Amino acid sequence: MLDTLTQRLAKVVKTMRGQARITEANSKEMLREVRLALLEADVALPVVRTLTNRIKEKALGQEVVGSLNPGQALVGIVQQELTAVIGGDLPEKQRRINLACTPPAVILLAGLQGAGKTTTAGKLAKWLKDSMKKKVVTVSADVYRPAAIEQLKMVSEQAGADWFPSTTEQKPLDIARAALDYAKLHFADVLIVDTAGRLSIDEKMMQEVSDLSAFLHPIETYFVVDAMTGQDAVNTARVFNERLPLTGIVLTKLDGDSRGGAALSVREVTGLPIKFVGTGEKLGGFDEFNPEAMAGRILGMGDIVSLVKDVTSSIDAEKARKVAERMRRNGRMDLNDFRDQMVQMRSMGSVSSLIDKLPASMQEAAAKANVSDEDADRMIRRTIGIIDSMTPQERRHPDLIKASRKKRIAAGAGLPVQEVNKLLKQYEQMTEVMKRMKKGGLSRLLRMAGGRM
Ligand code: GDP
Ligand code: MG
Repeated sequence: MLDTLTQRLAKVVKTMRGQARITEANSKEMLREVRLALLEADVALPVVRTLTNRIKEKALGQEVVGSLNPGQALVGIVQQELTAVIGGDLPEKQRRINLACTPPAVILLAGLQGAGKTTTAGKLAKWLKDSMKKKVVTVSADVYRPAAIEQLKMVSEQAGADWFPSTTEQKPLDIARAALDYAKLHFADVLIVDTAGRLSIDEKMMQEVSDLSAFLHPIETYFVVDAMTGQDAVNTARVFNERLPLTGIVLTKLDGDSRGGAALSVREVTGLPIKFVGTGEKLGGFDEFNPEAMAGRILGMGDIVSLVKDVTSSIDAEKARKVAERMRRNGRMDLNDFRDQMVQMRSMGSVSSLIDKLPASMQEAAAKANVSDEDADRMIRRTIGIIDSMTPQERRHPDLIKASRKKRIAAGAGLPVQEVNKLLKQYEQMTEVMKRMKKGGLSRLLRMAGGRM
């Protein structure tokens, strides 16, 4: 999905070349793609509308500067606006955790059951201890599930935080009072209060957590929400925001395959800053929120302005890593890797569309190579065909391929033996190149492909 969007946008960007400004007409298709991307990322429809209108307003009539074309400029605007809306336009101070009060600073965690409150309590405790050198006490006011109290004890120990014991026989308010006294007495900087959640909004739960809030006067009250819950998150966020003086959002489970669109929706309906994100089950899977990274994730791309870098490296990176790994293991690259590279090149679209997106320095080299789309595609298909006619053993050990094998392979691929020779030669060169570079390799591949024809 991710790559498709990048590629889709890349295509639209290409059609907008040579135009001096962004107009209603030339931005239409692009905005449609953006709208789709947002919807695919699970952003609520009204939010999508607001955002696309905002983008349109910003973009229309805008002169296109420097080497950008209108498409690239528009992509830049999308990225900027999305980043702004998601929290980038908030003052730094509001985006950060606030502990500016007489200690202990109380942090209350609220949210549905399974959202990740207890895990977040442990992560936050660790984060506060490691990066802010704070003395942290945790306490569980979840008196419905003994396992929940044990769970907090465990993560607190892992975090190196002080866990204040509580039991299911106590009342949440009594627990809070005792924990607060304890935290004061021990000069804790921060008291993190974990609460009970329900599977859905429930009046008793809301009352209980709002009583806790009224008693504790927390400086921070975070709504903890599972990024995977998508649209449901919006309604839940609204209710919690009505009942509690929330100060921020913690978005959990971003390591899952959610696009994170919920972040935008939740931020929009509550107006609250997203302060932290959970990115794994372990305590280290926790970060301060980064609006730019989230905007990129929602749109399914890294740095969208440099689309090409994405087309080349996002597709390449994973494969390149695997190839590099295999090379390290085997001490060399084999024909399977070579084939992978070819398939990748084909999946990246036409060669000329790729060249357009290369940095100027590489464009020149690529232009010199003078590869037409059809030539490149034919060459790539031919190469794949030849490799497919080899036995797995031959692919792993190309040096086995002597005259009789060459004949068999050529016949299998329906090509003259020369073609097999060419490929093996090319593979040899490639091995040389691969030795010299760690990853990427597209531009050199292109040059080689050109040099060959
Ligand atoms: P609570 O009911 O709100 O206290 O939720 P828990 O903290 O018990 O978490 C519920 C489940 O989600 C547990 O299995 C956690 O390990 C898991 N979890 C919490 N945060 C994350 C996260 O950021 N990533 C992943 N993958 N799992 C998480
Ligand atoms: Mg819990």
